[in-house]
Amino acid sequence: MLKKLSCACFLTFILTACSTTTSNKTAKDNIFTLQVLGINDFHGQVLPKQERGGMRNLAAHLLAATESTSDHTFILHAGDHVGASPAESALLQDEPSITFLNYMADFCQNHQQETCHVIGTAGNHEFDEGTPEMLRLLHGGVHAKGPFLEPSWAGAKYTNLSANVFDRESGQLILPPYVIKQVNGVEIGIIGLTLDYTPDLVVPGAVDDLYFADQAKVARRYVTLLEEQGINAIIIVVHDGTRDKYYSGATQTNARIDKNSKFGQFLSQLPTAVDLVVTGHSHRFTNAYFSRKNAPSLLVTQAFSSGRAYADITLTIDPAVQDITKASAEVIFANADPDLLLSSAAQATLQKVDNLISSAVSFAQAYTEQVIGTYRPKANEADLGVFIANSHQYMLNTDMGIMNKGGVRSTLKTGPVKWGDLFAVQPFNNPLIVREFTGVQLLALIDESQHWTSNITRGFDGSILWQGQALEPTRQYTVAGNAYIMNTERFAVGKLLRVDILDIDATSAYIKLVGPVFNYSSLPKSR
Ligand SMILES: [Zn+2]
Repeated sequence: MLKKLSCACFLTFILTACSTTTSNKTAKDNIFTLQVLGINDFHGQVLPKQERGGMRNLAAHLLAATESTSDHTFILHAGDHVGASPAESALLQDEPSITFLNYMADFCQNHQQETCHVIGTAGNHEFDEGTPEMLRLLHGGVHAKGPFLEPSWAGAKYTNLSANVFDRESGQLILPPYVIKQVNGVEIGIIGLTLDYTPDLVVPGAVDDLYFADQAKVARRYVTLLEEQGINAIIIVVHDGTRDKYYSGATQTNARIDKNSKFGQFLSQLPTAVDLVVTGHSHRFTNAYFSRKNAPSLLVTQAFSSGRAYADITLTIDPAVQDITKASAEVIFANADPDLLLSSAAQATLQKVDNLISSAVSFAQAYTEQVIGTYRPKANEADLGVFIANSHQYMLNTDMGIMNKGGVRSTLKTGPVKWGDLFAVQPFNNPLIVREFTGVQLLALIDESQHWTSNITRGFDGSILWQGQALEPTRQYTVAGNAYIMNTERFAVGKLLRVDILDIDATSAYIKLVGPVFNYSSLPKSR
């Protein structure tokens, strides 16, 4: 096949990168290595988590890794960079997390004469708040609750890909499917893929405007397209993955990915032209060679989550065959490490990251430090979970509220209750959902071992009572609960009526109604 050494000029595809690389090497005979730093599932982790990761530790490690080599560097993120985030990022619509990668992109472009690239793919959580918000975050525009740290939000300065997410109305992809980068005369294709069952993981209605195509089918289509352009060096960045037992050091040949697992089947369907798959979603460790018939094994990596680690991948590239001929990785923990050697340029970037962290934290503190009410417990009061179920039911004006036991993550201390204390109790930023169930359906659903309810009691004979009365079998009851519980298979049997405000906003508003001093049995006087 014709090997094309010049760039985009005769490619019709507008997304083709036109980065040029100056090199003394002739493309034919100089084998070289390329550094790929893989991260995934950052989830807006501004501060460290379990003493690892977060923006500062991850930045220090990425900067040090970029500076440790004369190779060119690709920093690839495999999705869920935003969403399901702590307050320091979530209250600012995750803009700080995009800014963080913007800083990395600025640094690496300056450091490597514009041949270092940051490229990401969309995960499922990028779609949590719907398509317009996902695109605003990447492309710029001020949020309705903004501006936050930047007076006019400019969006991401790095490339974001997704080859399998289409706008239903126009039939067009919402993000570029791939990008081509040229290093030392070799063109490298990077394809981004989003988890194809994302619609099952977001709140109902959030992605009704989108179509998520099969990951493997789409990957095959774009690999073929790249091969037709003479590109043999191909990397896939996918928000999907598997899990393996952690080990340190370079990729071991005995590390295995189960071919029969769902993810193993996806890998089996990839064309043999694919040389590396950077994965995410399972928040676990992967550093394995996936064996293939009639082709070298495929390197697959994943580096936990929250910036706690990154995959340091070395690709050996032979310009004579315009291909990646060897791949190996090491997953390295982003510990707080005072011994990392950084140039003054890297130190300056780290300082910008530090400033970003303190700005985000102090912005969030304005919310988290707000006193909502005063908690004064009383004997035999209800559980906190019941109080939350009450708050959801009352604020959404439904017949009943329901709260999953696993969803209550903290308790309240006696005394003033701040917004941050409530966020620690319900940290998921779940919207509330209202569904309708018949009395018969509710009888089958209510299970005190799994969840708390409001407006429901047990009769002397153990029967379930709603407001002191037996449930009427055919009557419709409206139930409010967070998106997590209401979208479980058992609760999805109820008719969806609406998606409403965030769980924490309902509970906080409710405390203002029943307070200022309250206990878990407190109820509003009347609606
Ligand atoms: Zn995910």
